[in-house]
Amino acid sequence: MQVSSMQQYINNKVFRAISEVAGQINRPTYAIGGFVRDIFLGRVSTDIDIVVQGSGIELAQLVAKKLGVKRVNVFKRFGTAQLKVGDWEVEFVGARKESYSSDSRKPIVEDGTIEDDQRRRDFTMNALGISLHPHTLGQLIDPFNGVDDISNRIIRTPLDPNQTFSDDPLRMMRAIRFATQLRFDIEANTYRALSVNKERLKIISVERITDELNKIILSKKPSIGFMLLEETGLLEQFFPEFVALKGVDKVKKHNHKDNFYHTLQVLDNVAEKSDDLWLRWAAVLHDIAKPVTKKYVKGQGWTFHAHEFVGKKMVPGIFRKLKLPLNEKMRYVQKLVQLHLRPIILSSDDVTDSAVRRLLFDAGDHIDDLMILCEADITSKNDAKVKRYLANFKLVRKKLIEIEEKDAVRNFQPPISGEIIMQVFGIAPSKPVGSIKDSIKEAILDGKISNDFHEAYDLMLQLGNAQGLKPQKSKEFILNQANLQVSSDSSNKE
Ligand code: ATP
Ligand code: MG
Repeated sequence: MQVSSMQQYINNKVFRAISEVAGQINRPTYAIGGFVRDIFLGRVSTDIDIVVQGSGIELAQLVAKKLGVKRVNVFKRFGTAQLKVGDWEVEFVGARKESYSSDSRKPIVEDGTIEDDQRRRDFTMNALGISLHPHTLGQLIDPFNGVDDISNRIIRTPLDPNQTFSDDPLRMMRAIRFATQLRFDIEANTYRALSVNKERLKIISVERITDELNKIILSKKPSIGFMLLEETGLLEQFFPEFVALKGVDKVKKHNHKDNFYHTLQVLDNVAEKSDDLWLRWAAVLHDIAKPVTKKYVKGQGWTFHAHEFVGKKMVPGIFRKLKLPLNEKMRYVQKLVQLHLRPIILSSDDVTDSAVRRLLFDAGDHIDDLMILCEADITSKNDAKVKRYLANFKLVRKKLIEIEEKDAVRNFQPPISGEIIMQVFGIAPSKPVGSIKDSIKEAILDGKISNDFHEAYDLMLQLGNAQGLKPQKSKEFILNQANLQVSSDSSNKE
Protein backbone atom coordinates (compact mmCIF):
# COMPACT_ATOMS: atom_id res chain seq x y z
CA MET A 1 0.00 0.00 0.00
CA GLN A 2 1.33 3.43 -0.95
CA VAL A 3 2.05 5.88 1.84
CA SER A 4 0.25 8.67 -0.01
CA SER A 5 -2.94 6.61 -0.15
CA MET A 6 -3.32 6.68 3.65
CA GLN A 7 -5.23 9.96 3.42
CA GLN A 8 -8.40 8.24 2.29
CA TYR A 9 -8.64 6.45 5.66
CA ILE A 10 -8.56 9.67 7.64
CA ASN A 11 -10.87 11.64 5.39
CA ASN A 12 -13.85 12.06 7.70
CA LYS A 13 -15.11 14.66 10.14
CA VAL A 14 -13.47 13.17 13.26
CA PHE A 15 -9.99 12.97 11.80
CA ARG A 16 -10.46 16.38 10.13
CA ALA A 17 -11.31 17.94 13.49
CA ILE A 18 -8.30 16.29 15.16
CA SER A 19 -6.09 17.49 12.32
CA GLU A 20 -7.30 21.08 12.60
CA VAL A 21 -6.68 21.16 16.34
CA ALA A 22 -3.26 19.50 15.89
CA GLY A 23 -2.39 22.33 13.48
CA GLN A 24 -3.65 25.02 15.87
CA ILE A 25 -1.64 23.76 18.82
CA ASN A 26 1.12 22.71 16.42
CA ARG A 27 1.87 19.34 17.98
CA PRO A 28 2.84 16.11 16.22
CA THR A 29 -0.33 13.98 16.33
CA TYR A 30 -0.89 10.45 15.01
CA ALA A 31 -3.50 7.77 14.70
CA ILE A 32 -1.64 4.75 15.99
CA GLY A 33 -1.77 1.06 16.88
CA GLY A 34 -4.56 -1.42 16.15
CA PHE A 35 -6.59 0.96 13.99
CA VAL A 36 -3.71 1.49 11.54
CA ARG A 37 -2.79 -2.21 11.58
CA ASP A 38 -6.38 -3.10 10.76
CA ILE A 39 -6.34 -0.87 7.65
CA PHE A 40 -3.56 -3.06 6.26
CA LEU A 41 -5.47 -6.18 7.25
CA GLY A 42 -8.53 -4.91 5.43
CA ARG A 43 -10.50 -4.74 8.67
CA VAL A 44 -12.54 -1.81 9.88
CA SER A 45 -11.93 -0.92 13.48
CA THR A 46 -14.03 1.55 15.44
CA ASP A 47 -11.51 1.79 18.30
CA ILE A 48 -9.17 4.60 17.46
CA ASP A 49 -6.05 5.56 19.38
CA ILE A 50 -4.59 9.03 18.96
CA VAL A 51 -1.13 9.92 20.26
CA VAL A 52 -0.01 13.52 20.58
CA GLN A 53 3.34 14.89 21.60
CA GLY A 54 1.83 16.86 24.44
CA SER A 55 -1.32 16.47 26.53
CA GLY A 56 -3.84 13.89 25.34
CA ILE A 57 -6.49 15.28 27.67
CA GLU A 58 -6.15 18.82 26.33
CA LEU A 59 -6.30 17.60 22.72
CA ALA A 60 -9.43 15.56 23.49
CA GLN A 61 -11.14 18.57 25.04
CA LEU A 62 -10.37 20.82 22.09
CA VAL A 63 -11.52 18.18 19.59
CA ALA A 64 -14.74 17.59 21.56
CA LYS A 65 -15.47 21.31 21.46
CA LYS A 66 -14.91 21.47 17.72
CA LEU A 67 -17.18 18.48 17.12
CA GLY A 68 -19.83 19.64 19.58
CA VAL A 69 -19.37 16.45 21.65
CA LYS A 70 -20.46 17.19 25.22
CA ARG A 71 -18.94 14.32 27.12
CA VAL A 72 -15.22 13.73 27.51
CA ASN A 73 -14.21 10.80 29.71
CA VAL A 74 -11.01 11.85 31.41
CA PHE A 75 -8.69 9.39 33.17
CA LYS A 76 -6.30 11.77 34.90
CA ARG A 77 -4.23 9.03 36.48
CA PHE A 78 -3.38 7.57 33.07
CA GLY A 79 -3.25 10.92 31.28
CA THR A 80 -5.85 9.71 28.79
CA ALA A 81 -9.24 10.93 27.60
CA GLN A 82 -11.91 9.30 25.52
CA LEU A 83 -14.69 10.52 23.25
CA LYS A 84 -17.57 8.66 21.68
CA VAL A 85 -18.54 9.91 18.26
CA GLY A 86 -21.26 7.77 16.70
CA ASP A 87 -20.02 4.22 17.08
CA TRP A 88 -16.40 5.31 17.18
CA GLU A 89 -14.47 5.31 20.42
CA VAL A 90 -11.54 7.64 20.19
CA GLU A 91 -8.87 7.58 22.87
CA PHE A 92 -6.30 10.35 23.23
CA VAL A 93 -2.99 9.96 25.01
CA GLY A 94 0.22 11.95 25.28
CA ALA A 95 3.28 10.27 23.75
CA ARG A 96 5.25 8.53 26.47
CA LYS A 97 8.48 6.90 27.25
CA GLU A 98 8.48 4.00 29.63
CA SER A 99 11.25 2.43 31.61
CA TYR A 100 10.80 -0.69 33.67
CA SER A 101 12.56 -2.22 36.61
CA SER A 102 12.72 -5.99 36.74
CA ASP A 103 10.67 -6.56 39.88
CA SER A 104 7.57 -4.64 38.91
CA ARG A 105 5.20 -4.35 36.03
CA LYS A 106 4.62 -0.69 36.88
CA PRO A 107 6.86 1.34 34.58
CA ILE A 108 8.30 4.76 35.24
CA VAL A 109 6.42 6.86 32.70
CA GLU A 110 7.69 10.14 31.32
CA ASP A 111 6.57 12.38 28.50
CA GLY A 112 8.28 11.34 25.31
CA THR A 113 8.37 11.69 21.55
CA ILE A 114 6.25 9.76 19.07
CA GLU A 115 9.30 7.54 18.42
CA ASP A 116 9.53 6.77 22.15
CA ASP A 117 5.88 5.88 22.11
CA GLN A 118 6.30 3.52 19.18
CA ARG A 119 9.19 1.75 20.91
CA ARG A 120 7.03 0.81 23.89
CA ARG A 121 4.42 -0.90 21.69
CA ASP A 122 4.14 -4.66 21.66
CA PHE A 123 4.63 -5.63 18.01
CA THR A 124 5.91 -4.02 14.84
CA MET A 125 2.44 -4.33 13.28
CA ASN A 126 0.98 -2.42 16.25
CA ALA A 127 3.53 0.40 16.10
CA LEU A 128 2.35 2.03 12.86
CA GLY A 129 1.20 5.64 12.91
CA ILE A 130 -0.56 7.95 10.44
CA SER A 131 0.16 11.64 10.82
CA LEU A 132 -2.78 13.94 11.40
CA HIS A 133 -0.82 17.19 11.58
CA PRO A 134 -1.75 19.32 8.54
CA HIS A 135 1.89 19.64 7.40
CA THR A 136 2.38 15.88 7.12
CA LEU A 137 -1.22 14.73 6.83
CA GLY A 138 -1.57 11.07 5.88
CA GLN A 139 2.11 10.24 6.21
CA LEU A 140 2.76 6.76 7.50
CA ILE A 141 5.47 6.27 10.11
CA ASP A 142 6.72 2.71 10.30
CA PRO A 143 10.10 2.67 12.04
CA PHE A 144 10.15 -1.12 12.56
CA ASN A 145 8.91 -2.26 9.13
CA GLY A 146 5.55 -3.31 10.49
CA VAL A 147 3.95 -3.11 7.04
CA ASP A 148 6.41 -5.71 5.71
CA ASP A 149 5.71 -7.92 8.71
CA ILE A 150 1.98 -7.66 8.09
CA SER A 151 2.38 -8.63 4.45
CA ASN A 152 4.62 -11.53 5.45
CA ARG A 153 2.19 -12.40 8.24
CA ILE A 154 4.80 -12.18 10.97
CA ILE A 155 4.58 -11.19 14.61
CA ARG A 156 7.75 -9.51 15.81
CA THR A 157 8.58 -7.21 18.71
CA PRO A 158 9.95 -3.77 17.83
CA LEU A 159 12.87 -4.07 20.30
CA ASP A 160 14.80 -7.09 21.56
CA PRO A 161 11.94 -9.45 22.42
CA ASN A 162 13.46 -10.25 25.80
CA GLN A 163 13.13 -6.61 26.70
CA THR A 164 9.64 -6.14 25.27
CA PHE A 165 8.36 -9.27 27.03
CA SER A 166 10.16 -8.71 30.28
CA ASP A 167 8.85 -5.11 30.45
CA ASP A 168 5.24 -6.26 30.14
CA PRO A 169 4.85 -10.05 30.14
CA LEU A 170 1.20 -9.83 29.06
CA ARG A 171 2.64 -9.16 25.60
CA MET A 172 3.56 -12.86 25.46
CA MET A 173 -0.11 -13.77 25.74
CA ARG A 174 -0.92 -11.12 23.15
CA ALA A 175 1.67 -12.57 20.75
CA ILE A 176 -0.02 -15.95 20.87
CA ARG A 177 -3.49 -14.44 20.78
CA PHE A 178 -2.67 -12.49 17.59
CA ALA A 179 -0.99 -15.58 16.09
CA THR A 180 -4.24 -17.48 16.69
CA GLN A 181 -6.67 -14.77 15.57
CA LEU A 182 -4.72 -13.67 12.50
CA ARG A 183 -2.97 -16.98 11.70
CA PHE A 184 0.37 -15.15 11.66
CA ASP A 185 3.70 -16.81 12.46
CA ILE A 186 5.73 -15.66 15.41
CA GLU A 187 9.23 -14.67 14.26
CA ALA A 188 11.93 -17.07 15.54
CA ASN A 189 13.67 -14.74 18.03
CA THR A 190 10.37 -13.49 19.34
CA TYR A 191 9.20 -17.09 19.68
CA ARG A 192 12.31 -18.15 21.61
CA ALA A 193 11.86 -15.24 24.00
CA LEU A 194 8.43 -16.59 24.95
CA SER A 195 9.99 -19.65 26.60
CA VAL A 196 12.85 -17.67 28.08
CA ASN A 197 10.49 -15.21 29.78
CA LYS A 198 7.62 -17.56 30.59
CA GLU A 199 8.00 -17.23 34.35
CA ARG A 200 7.62 -13.46 34.14
CA LEU A 201 3.94 -14.11 33.44
CA LYS A 202 3.54 -14.58 37.19
CA ILE A 203 3.61 -10.81 37.76
CA ILE A 204 0.56 -10.30 35.52
CA SER A 205 -2.92 -10.27 37.00
CA VAL A 206 -4.96 -13.37 36.29
CA GLU A 207 -7.82 -11.29 34.85
CA ARG A 208 -5.62 -9.95 32.07
CA ILE A 209 -4.24 -13.41 31.27
CA THR A 210 -7.72 -14.93 31.19
CA ASP A 211 -8.91 -12.11 28.95
CA GLU A 212 -6.34 -13.11 26.35
CA LEU A 213 -7.06 -16.80 26.87
CA ASN A 214 -10.74 -16.16 26.21
CA LYS A 215 -9.85 -14.33 23.00
CA ILE A 216 -7.85 -17.39 21.95
CA ILE A 217 -10.77 -19.67 22.81
CA LEU A 218 -13.09 -17.44 20.77
CA SER A 219 -10.84 -17.59 17.70
CA LYS A 220 -11.76 -19.63 14.66
CA LYS A 221 -9.20 -22.34 15.44
CA PRO A 222 -8.37 -22.14 19.15
CA SER A 223 -6.03 -25.16 19.08
CA ILE A 224 -3.35 -23.02 17.42
CA GLY A 225 -3.14 -20.84 20.52
CA PHE A 226 -3.23 -23.70 23.02
CA MET A 227 -0.43 -25.52 21.20
CA LEU A 228 1.74 -22.42 21.19
CA LEU A 229 0.96 -21.79 24.87
CA GLU A 230 1.95 -25.36 25.69
CA GLU A 231 5.10 -25.47 23.55
CA THR A 232 6.43 -22.24 25.05
CA GLY A 233 5.70 -23.31 28.62
CA LEU A 234 3.30 -20.42 29.18
CA LEU A 235 0.25 -22.65 29.68
CA GLU A 236 1.93 -24.38 32.62
CA GLN A 237 2.17 -21.01 34.38
CA PHE A 238 -1.57 -20.49 34.73
CA PHE A 239 -3.39 -23.66 33.65
CA PRO A 240 -1.37 -26.75 34.68
CA GLU A 241 -4.51 -28.90 34.80
CA PHE A 242 -4.75 -28.59 31.05
CA VAL A 243 -1.10 -29.43 30.48
CA ALA A 244 -1.64 -32.58 32.56
CA LEU A 245 -3.83 -33.93 29.75
CA LYS A 246 -0.74 -34.32 27.62
CA GLY A 247 1.05 -37.60 27.11
CA VAL A 248 0.39 -41.24 26.49
CA ASP A 249 0.95 -44.09 28.92
CA LYS A 250 1.76 -47.55 27.78
CA VAL A 251 1.24 -50.88 29.47
CA LYS A 252 2.54 -53.66 27.24
CA LYS A 253 0.97 -52.95 23.87
CA HIS A 254 -1.85 -50.85 25.24
CA ASN A 255 -1.80 -47.09 25.16
CA HIS A 256 -4.54 -44.50 25.46
CA LYS A 257 -5.02 -41.50 23.24
CA ASP A 258 -3.31 -38.22 24.09
CA ASN A 259 -6.05 -36.27 25.81
CA PHE A 260 -4.39 -32.92 25.22
CA TYR A 261 -4.61 -33.20 21.44
CA HIS A 262 -7.96 -34.93 21.67
CA THR A 263 -9.38 -32.04 23.73
CA LEU A 264 -8.01 -29.49 21.25
CA GLN A 265 -9.64 -31.36 18.40
CA VAL A 266 -12.95 -31.33 20.29
CA LEU A 267 -12.54 -27.60 20.95
CA ASP A 268 -11.89 -26.88 17.26
CA ASN A 269 -14.90 -29.02 16.33
CA VAL A 270 -17.15 -27.13 18.74
CA ALA A 271 -15.74 -23.82 17.45
CA GLU A 272 -17.00 -24.75 13.98
CA LYS A 273 -20.52 -25.09 15.34
CA SER A 274 -20.83 -22.39 17.98
CA ASP A 275 -19.40 -18.98 18.94
CA ASP A 276 -20.48 -19.37 22.54
CA LEU A 277 -17.56 -18.88 24.94
CA TRP A 278 -19.04 -21.15 27.61
CA LEU A 279 -19.82 -24.04 25.29
CA ARG A 280 -16.22 -23.73 24.14
CA TRP A 281 -15.09 -23.78 27.78
CA ALA A 282 -17.11 -26.95 28.29
CA ALA A 283 -15.08 -28.47 25.43
CA VAL A 284 -11.84 -27.31 27.08
CA LEU A 285 -12.83 -28.94 30.36
CA HIS A 286 -14.84 -31.99 29.32
CA ASP A 287 -12.01 -34.48 29.95
CA ILE A 288 -10.12 -32.43 32.53
CA ALA A 289 -10.35 -35.22 35.13
CA LYS A 290 -8.91 -37.91 32.86
CA PRO A 291 -5.38 -37.57 34.26
CA VAL A 292 -6.56 -37.99 37.86
CA THR A 293 -8.96 -40.88 37.13
CA LYS A 294 -6.67 -42.79 34.77
CA LYS A 295 -6.14 -46.44 35.60
CA TYR A 296 -4.96 -49.48 33.74
CA VAL A 297 -7.29 -52.41 34.39
CA LYS A 298 -6.17 -55.85 33.30
CA GLY A 299 -8.43 -57.25 30.64
CA GLN A 300 -10.09 -53.88 30.11
CA GLY A 301 -7.21 -51.58 29.21
CA TRP A 302 -7.09 -47.91 30.15
CA THR A 303 -10.08 -46.59 32.07
CA PHE A 304 -11.06 -43.10 33.23
CA HIS A 305 -13.80 -44.15 35.55
CA ALA A 306 -16.20 -41.37 36.63
CA HIS A 307 -14.07 -38.68 34.98
CA GLU A 308 -17.24 -36.79 34.09
CA PHE A 309 -18.26 -36.47 37.76
CA VAL A 310 -14.76 -35.71 39.03
CA GLY A 311 -14.42 -33.23 36.16
CA LYS A 312 -17.61 -31.46 37.15
CA LYS A 313 -16.20 -31.09 40.65
CA MET A 314 -12.92 -29.67 39.35
CA VAL A 315 -14.64 -26.88 37.41
CA PRO A 316 -15.23 -24.43 40.31
CA GLY A 317 -11.59 -24.61 41.44
CA ILE A 318 -10.38 -23.87 37.92
CA PHE A 319 -12.93 -21.09 37.43
CA ARG A 320 -11.92 -19.52 40.72
CA LYS A 321 -8.23 -19.66 39.92
CA LEU A 322 -8.70 -18.19 36.45
CA LYS A 323 -11.12 -15.56 37.80
CA LEU A 324 -13.88 -16.77 35.50
CA PRO A 325 -17.41 -16.03 36.75
CA LEU A 326 -18.69 -18.27 39.55
CA ASN A 327 -22.29 -17.97 38.40
CA GLU A 328 -24.74 -19.72 36.09
CA LYS A 329 -22.09 -19.77 33.33
CA MET A 330 -19.95 -21.95 35.57
CA ARG A 331 -22.88 -24.19 36.45
CA TYR A 332 -23.66 -24.56 32.75
CA VAL A 333 -20.08 -25.70 32.08
CA GLN A 334 -20.31 -28.12 35.02
CA LYS A 335 -23.52 -29.57 33.68
CA LEU A 336 -22.10 -30.16 30.22
CA VAL A 337 -18.95 -31.75 31.66
CA GLN A 338 -21.06 -34.02 33.81
CA LEU A 339 -23.40 -35.07 31.01
CA HIS A 340 -20.91 -35.33 28.16
CA LEU A 341 -20.97 -39.14 28.03
CA ARG A 342 -24.71 -39.59 28.28
CA PRO A 343 -25.70 -39.29 24.61
CA ILE A 344 -22.96 -41.69 23.57
CA ILE A 345 -24.27 -44.29 26.00
CA LEU A 346 -27.70 -43.78 24.51
CA SER A 347 -26.43 -44.34 21.02
CA SER A 348 -24.53 -47.52 21.73
CA ASP A 349 -27.41 -49.31 23.44
CA ASP A 350 -30.93 -49.81 22.32
CA VAL A 351 -32.27 -46.34 22.87
CA THR A 352 -35.19 -46.59 25.27
CA ASP A 353 -37.73 -43.79 25.59
CA SER A 354 -37.06 -43.68 29.28
CA ALA A 355 -33.33 -43.06 28.85
CA VAL A 356 -34.01 -40.28 26.34
CA ARG A 357 -36.61 -38.74 28.67
CA ARG A 358 -34.09 -38.71 31.51
CA LEU A 359 -31.44 -37.09 29.35
CA LEU A 360 -33.92 -34.40 28.29
CA PHE A 361 -34.89 -33.83 31.88
CA ASP A 362 -31.26 -33.57 33.07
CA ALA A 363 -30.01 -31.41 30.21
CA GLY A 364 -33.09 -29.16 30.00
CA ASP A 365 -32.54 -26.20 27.68
CA HIS A 366 -28.90 -27.17 27.22
CA ILE A 367 -29.70 -30.33 25.29
CA ASP A 368 -28.71 -28.83 21.91
CA ASP A 369 -25.39 -27.58 23.27
CA LEU A 370 -24.76 -30.97 24.84
CA MET A 371 -25.36 -32.67 21.50
CA ILE A 372 -22.89 -30.29 19.81
CA LEU A 373 -20.28 -31.15 22.44
CA CYS A 374 -20.90 -34.88 22.13
CA GLU A 375 -20.67 -34.92 18.36
CA ALA A 376 -17.49 -32.85 18.59
CA ASP A 377 -16.13 -35.45 21.03
CA ILE A 378 -15.98 -38.11 18.33
CA THR A 379 -12.40 -37.75 17.15
CA SER A 380 -11.45 -41.31 16.29
CA LYS A 381 -9.09 -41.81 13.34
CA ASN A 382 -11.18 -44.76 12.30
CA ASP A 383 -13.59 -43.37 9.71
CA ALA A 384 -16.03 -46.24 9.90
CA LYS A 385 -16.29 -45.79 13.66
CA VAL A 386 -16.89 -42.05 13.31
CA LYS A 387 -19.59 -42.69 10.71
CA ARG A 388 -21.33 -45.21 12.93
CA TYR A 389 -21.29 -42.89 15.93
CA LEU A 390 -22.60 -39.94 13.95
CA ALA A 391 -25.38 -42.09 12.50
CA ASN A 392 -26.30 -43.20 16.02
CA PHE A 393 -26.37 -39.59 17.15
CA LYS A 394 -28.78 -38.81 14.35
CA LEU A 395 -31.07 -41.42 15.85
CA VAL A 396 -30.67 -39.95 19.32
CA ARG A 397 -31.52 -36.49 18.02
CA LYS A 398 -34.60 -37.86 16.27
CA LYS A 399 -35.71 -39.61 19.44
CA LEU A 400 -35.11 -36.46 21.46
CA ILE A 401 -37.45 -34.53 19.21
CA GLU A 402 -40.12 -37.24 19.29
CA ILE A 403 -40.07 -37.56 23.07
CA GLU A 404 -40.00 -33.82 23.63
CA GLU A 405 -43.04 -33.40 21.39
CA LYS A 406 -44.88 -36.19 23.14
CA ASP A 407 -43.93 -35.62 26.78
CA ALA A 408 -42.48 -32.10 26.99
CA VAL A 409 -39.98 -33.01 29.68
CA ARG A 410 -37.29 -30.52 28.64
CA ASN A 411 -38.21 -27.97 31.29
CA PHE A 412 -40.47 -30.27 33.07
CA GLN A 413 -41.97 -29.26 36.42
CA PRO A 414 -43.77 -32.22 37.98
CA PRO A 415 -47.55 -31.59 37.69
CA ILE A 416 -48.03 -32.23 41.41
CA SER A 417 -46.22 -29.80 43.67
CA GLY A 418 -45.19 -30.35 47.28
CA GLU A 419 -47.78 -27.71 48.15
CA ILE A 420 -50.58 -29.81 46.65
CA ILE A 421 -49.39 -32.97 48.42
CA MET A 422 -49.43 -31.16 51.78
CA GLN A 423 -52.89 -29.71 51.18
CA VAL A 424 -54.49 -32.94 50.00
CA PHE A 425 -53.24 -34.99 52.94
CA GLY A 426 -53.34 -32.11 55.43
CA ILE A 427 -49.70 -32.58 56.43
CA ALA A 428 -46.81 -30.22 57.17
CA PRO A 429 -43.50 -30.19 55.25
CA SER A 430 -42.01 -33.61 55.95
CA LYS A 431 -40.24 -36.60 54.44
CA PRO A 432 -43.35 -38.21 52.88
CA VAL A 433 -43.97 -35.02 50.85
CA GLY A 434 -40.53 -35.26 49.24
CA SER A 435 -40.72 -38.98 48.64
CA ILE A 436 -44.17 -38.81 47.01
CA LYS A 437 -43.03 -35.94 44.80
CA ASP A 438 -39.87 -37.82 43.76
CA SER A 439 -41.74 -41.03 43.00
CA ILE A 440 -44.13 -39.11 40.73
CA LYS A 441 -41.19 -37.55 38.89
CA GLU A 442 -39.50 -40.94 38.48
CA ALA A 443 -42.73 -42.53 37.23
CA ILE A 444 -43.05 -39.85 34.56
CA LEU A 445 -39.40 -40.12 33.48
CA ASP A 446 -39.70 -43.91 33.34
CA GLY A 447 -42.82 -43.57 31.20
CA LYS A 448 -45.02 -45.39 33.74
CA ILE A 449 -47.45 -42.47 33.70
CA SER A 450 -47.60 -39.50 31.35
CA ASN A 451 -46.67 -35.96 32.23
CA ASP A 452 -50.29 -35.18 33.11
CA PHE A 453 -52.03 -33.78 36.21
CA HIS A 454 -54.76 -36.41 36.53
CA GLU A 455 -52.47 -39.41 36.14
CA ALA A 456 -50.04 -37.91 38.60
CA TYR A 457 -52.90 -37.14 41.04
CA ASP A 458 -54.05 -40.75 41.03
CA LEU A 459 -50.51 -41.96 41.65
CA MET A 460 -50.18 -39.49 44.54
CA LEU A 461 -53.32 -40.93 46.16
CA GLN A 462 -51.96 -44.47 45.81
CA LEU A 463 -48.57 -43.51 47.24
CA GLY A 464 -50.21 -41.64 50.14
CA ASN A 465 -52.48 -44.52 50.86
CA ALA A 466 -49.50 -46.88 51.06
CA GLN A 467 -48.07 -44.59 53.75
CA GLY A 468 -51.34 -44.47 55.69
CA LEU A 469 -52.24 -40.94 54.57
CA LYS A 470 -55.92 -40.11 53.93
CA PRO A 471 -57.02 -37.34 51.56
CA GLN A 472 -58.54 -34.36 53.38
CA LYS A 473 -59.41 -32.34 50.26
CA SER A 474 -61.08 -33.37 47.01
CA LYS A 475 -59.46 -33.12 43.60
CA GLU A 476 -62.14 -30.57 42.57
CA PHE A 477 -61.16 -28.35 45.48
CA ILE A 478 -57.49 -28.45 44.45
CA LEU A 479 -58.33 -27.78 40.79
CA ASN A 480 -60.63 -24.88 41.67
CA GLN A 481 -57.97 -23.39 43.80
CA ALA A 482 -55.40 -23.76 41.03
CA ASN A 483 -57.80 -22.02 38.62
CA LEU A 484 -58.35 -19.20 41.08
CA GLN A 485 -54.60 -18.85 41.36
CA VAL A 486 -54.21 -18.68 37.59
CA SER A 487 -56.97 -16.09 37.13
CA SER A 488 -55.77 -13.90 39.97
CA ASP A 489 -52.21 -14.15 38.59
CA SER A 490 -53.37 -12.96 35.18
CA SER A 491 -55.50 -10.18 36.66
CA ASN A 492 -52.41 -8.97 38.53
CA LYS A 493 -50.59 -8.57 35.26
CA GLU A 494 -53.24 -6.36 33.69
P1 ATP B 1 -7.64 -5.70 19.62
O1 ATP B 1 -8.35 -4.40 19.79
O2 ATP B 1 -7.99 -6.49 18.43
O3 ATP B 1 -7.61 -6.50 20.87
P2 ATP B 1 -5.31 -4.04 19.52
O4 ATP B 1 -3.92 -4.25 19.01
O5 ATP B 1 -6.06 -2.88 18.97
O6 ATP B 1 -6.09 -5.40 19.32
P3 ATP B 1 -5.69 -2.88 22.08
O7 ATP B 1 -5.66 -3.51 23.41
O8 ATP B 1 -6.92 -2.22 21.58
O9 ATP B 1 -5.19 -3.98 21.07
O10 ATP B 1 -4.49 -1.84 22.08
C1 ATP B 1 -4.30 -0.83 21.12
C2 ATP B 1 -2.81 -0.62 20.85
O11 ATP B 1 -2.14 -0.34 22.06
C3 ATP B 1 -2.11 -1.84 20.29
O12 ATP B 1 -2.23 -1.93 18.89
C4 ATP B 1 -0.69 -1.61 20.73
O13 ATP B 1 -0.05 -0.66 19.91
C5 ATP B 1 -0.85 -0.97 22.07
N1 ATP B 1 -0.84 -1.95 23.16
C6 ATP B 1 -1.90 -2.55 23.77
N2 ATP B 1 -1.52 -3.36 24.76
C7 ATP B 1 -0.18 -3.28 24.80
C8 ATP B 1 0.82 -3.86 25.62
N3 ATP B 1 0.51 -4.71 26.61
N4 ATP B 1 2.10 -3.52 25.39
C9 ATP B 1 2.42 -2.67 24.42
N5 ATP B 1 1.54 -2.09 23.62
C10 ATP B 1 0.26 -2.37 23.78
MG1 MG C 1 -8.07 -2.22 19.72
